[in-house]
Amino acid sequence: MEGWETVIGLEVHAELATATKLFSGARNEFGGDPNTHIDPVSLGLPGSLPVLNEKAVELAIRVGLALNCRVQPSEFARKNYFYPDMPKGFQISQYDQPINGEGWLELPDGRRIGIERAHLEEDTGKSTHVGGGGRIHEANYSLVDYNRAGVPLIEIVGMPDLRCAEDARAYVAELRAILVAIGASDGKMEEGSMRVDCNVSVRPVGVEELGTRCEVKNINSLRSLGRAIEYEARRQVDLLTSGRRIEQQTRHWNEEDGRTHKLRSKEEAFDYRYFPEPDLVPVVPSQEWIDEIRSAMPMLPRERRSRLAGAAGVQTGAAALTVERGLDDLAVDSIGRGADAARVLVHIENNLADGHGALTADSFAALVAMETGRDLTATQAKTVLADLVESGGDPAAIAATHGFEAMDTSLIEELVDDLIARHPDDWAAFVDGDEKERKKKSGFFVGQIMKSTRGQADGRVVNQILDRRAGGPARQD
Ligand code: ADP
Ligand code: MG
Repeated sequence: MEGWETVIGLEVHAELATATKLFSGARNEFGGDPNTHIDPVSLGLPGSLPVLNEKAVELAIRVGLALNCRVQPSEFARKNYFYPDMPKGFQISQYDQPINGEGWLELPDGRRIGIERAHLEEDTGKSTHVGGGGRIHEANYSLVDYNRAGVPLIEIVGMPDLRCAEDARAYVAELRAILVAIGASDGKMEEGSMRVDCNVSVRPVGVEELGTRCEVKNINSLRSLGRAIEYEARRQVDLLTSGRRIEQQTRHWNEEDGRTHKLRSKEEAFDYRYFPEPDLVPVVPSQEWIDEIRSAMPMLPRERRSRLAGAAGVQTGAAALTVERGLDDLAVDSIGRGADAARVLVHIENNLADGHGALTADSFAALVAMETGRDLTATQAKTVLADLVESGGDPAAIAATHGFEAMDTSLIEELVDDLIARHPDDWAAFVDGDEKERKKKSGFFVGQIMKSTRGQADGRVVNQILDRRAGGPARQD
């Protein structure tokens, strides 16, 4: 891949978390027995007419505001194609007048990825092809479930601003976090409520012009997204370096064999014969309504990261994991109560992967204060923290029940001297070693002391003693 750059633009569909469908009162709910969440509109029966769901428009506007889009007057259009899971013979979507125009999404590291548009449309039903390995042309018969038909979708079309699989995954993860935070969608990729189509092209490094792209469908997880991009970019580079050209295609990701497969070429693509939907009036949200929606928006992940970064005195990237785990309120409150920010973030990263349970900001701050005040070692603090998460309480009382008391420095000195005497070769290597070697050996000595004191000794004190005994810190080469 040397000398080549990958260019990625994503189209993400998310089901909006309304109670009912986009154009009727049928229930919008995942699962259920087939064809139980339906009505004449979802089935496209003759004479049925669509009535726009106000809540869906509100959620679409929330998405637009969260993605810094221009929220604008919009129109619905008919996108014509025939498929059994779309009984009207057309899908109601938005075409040249989407509800949300250009915007951007900020990745945790601060880079901005452009958003081209985010428009409303209805979801289709679901076909199941029986026999012939689930493929339509070999099936004995097909079953259609219309529970999903007419569920409101927001389609978020990203600009081709992404450059690698890792960025694409970060973009989708951030988008999902935003949609969940604003209550627009549950963002569950595994239930299909968030679906990603991925456009990939490659170009020689330094070339401005975009290469011919292929669109990859059927990506069901962040992991497959990364794998599909890497496979597809390599395939395209292999074609180009062997003197061939890229045909613009729609391709299908196959999770089992880890490859993309051609579905159709651009020449075979549908002509959708878009035209304005005559049964719906244009949607013109008033400025008051948009302002009202804006003022009710919760804090976004990006704002939460910068709030925590400010409180902790770190970069927003360092605050990302804490926000992702939903522990930023706890972190900000604990730091506000005087807890050492670095210790707070380290505990969140290493010891609070499953959430904070019964731990409160007060007890967290008190625990961290005991640790920074050397009343508890890092190992002891970890044990007390686990108890606090489990059942709450007072960290000092919990430490006492464990018999955690700061170990006397002179006692640790004795243990260190004894250890040095028993390991003269390791000690010589420590004393004479460069910084790297000394670090390795200090790991050994500290580990031994921790073992013999069952974590009661303070690792920092052990290191200080080792340096003192060696006559100073490591030599600098
Ligand atoms: P279409 O209407 O055929 O889907 P669009 O112009 O709307 O085409 O683009 C769809 C998506 O493809 C967008 O997310 C965009 O970022 C992406 N895209 C467009 N051109 C390229 C390219 N050369 N390489 C990668 N992605 C691209
Ligand atoms: Mg498209």
